[in-house]
Amino acid sequence: MPSRTDTPLNVAVIGAGLGGLAAAIALRRQQHHVTVYERHDFAGEVGASLSAAPNGSKFLERWGVDIAAAKPVILKNLIMHEWKDGKVLNEFGLGDYKAKFGTDYNNFHRIDIHKQLLKSAFEEPGEGPKCILEINHKAIEIDAEAGVIRFENGQKATADLIVAADGIRSLTREQMGITPQFEMSTSCCYRCIIGADKLRALGLEDYINNQAIEYWGGFGINKIVMSPCSDGDVVSCYCFYPSEYNNLRDDGWNISSSPQQLLATFPDLDPRMRTLMANAEDIKMWRCKYIQSVSLRVERELRTQYTAINHIHTGLKARYAFSATQRTL
Ligand SMILES: Cc1cc2nc3c(=O)[nH]c(=O)nc-3n(C[C@H](O)[C@H](O)[C@H](O)COP(=O)(O)OP(=O)(O)OC[C@H]3O[C@@H](n4cnc5c(N)ncnc54)[C@H](O)[C@@H]3O)c2cc1C
Repeated sequence: MPSRTDTPLNVAVIGAGLGGLAAAIALRRQQHHVTVYERHDFAGEVGASLSAAPNGSKFLERWGVDIAAAKPVILKNLIMHEWKDGKVLNEFGLGDYKAKFGTDYNNFHRIDIHKQLLKSAFEEPGEGPKCILEINHKAIEIDAEAGVIRFENGQKATADLIVAADGIRSLTREQMGITPQFEMSTSCCYRCIIGADKLRALGLEDYINNQAIEYWGGFGINKIVMSPCSDGDVVSCYCFYPSEYNNLRDDGWNISSSPQQLLATFPDLDPRMRTLMANAEDIKMWRCKYIQSVSLRVERELRTQYTAINHIHTGLKARYAFSATQRTL
């Protein structure tokens, strides 16, 4: 698709996640008329931290997204801890990303960056016409050739271009004849967050102040990845463990768990990290899957673009939203 056309296109974006909003803002800035269709009755985000290296942060800057309002913690270090006692094994300074690559290495709370993307797409004045958000519009059928989308609520929309950004379980992807194979991974993951006040009260304030992504383990499946976000008010952890432990098979990102379950999964972990776990909030768990890689497919004639920005975290194998956004746009 040409990045700028003399005749602005009427674009439909399916999905108001990070990918759909990024696509909507980029298209808005190129003067296109964008409507975003979201299946839920709100365009919200859940989750924990999300890091945006300069490959993604530079797009946020270019699009005029208020990065400061998304309360990033600028990452400066990678710290590796001994699994059992938390001793620091290695500390790598990341150097000055801004000087080297043009922007900082930002770590956001997903909710904070999603909120700012919503503003840039639908609220703020700026280059390009404001996008329109249609909630309660679950796409159920796409006629790519005609540029028509049908929704569960009985409505229908037409567009010059359809951007399918409906997530890892994309329906539109299948409608375009792309059916990636899934395979259960040997990893499962918990994610949790904890507030800075609690950490201070527990004597764990260094977890907030290091401006670091910190790891415990990581050479096998067991791995904890911790990082601060939200101006240092929140610390988030991703905790990976072998799937054979509980053979979780339910699908979804929102299966609740408890501190007790977390502690039972990692009995021999650093006692300080276990103290964090005992006091953690908003604990969710999910089974990781391998997804067959899907190459980006731009169908000029079919007028549909699958954004391919889904990401599945399978241990160390990851496709990140921001780098994929860069490839896509
Ligand atoms: C543990 C973990 C850590 C991660 N860390 C990072 C990181 O540090 N940096 C990074 O860049 N990425 C990271 N990612 C990846 C990133 O979170 C995802 O790539 C990104 O959120 C995907 O965004 P999306 O918009 O494609 O999908 P989603 O966020 O799933 O959004 C899809 C949207 O489409 C809507 N939708 C679905 N079906 C329909 C339909 N039929 N009709 C209308 N609407 C529909 C959904 O309701 C939803 O709002 C991480 C992911 C995980 C799991």
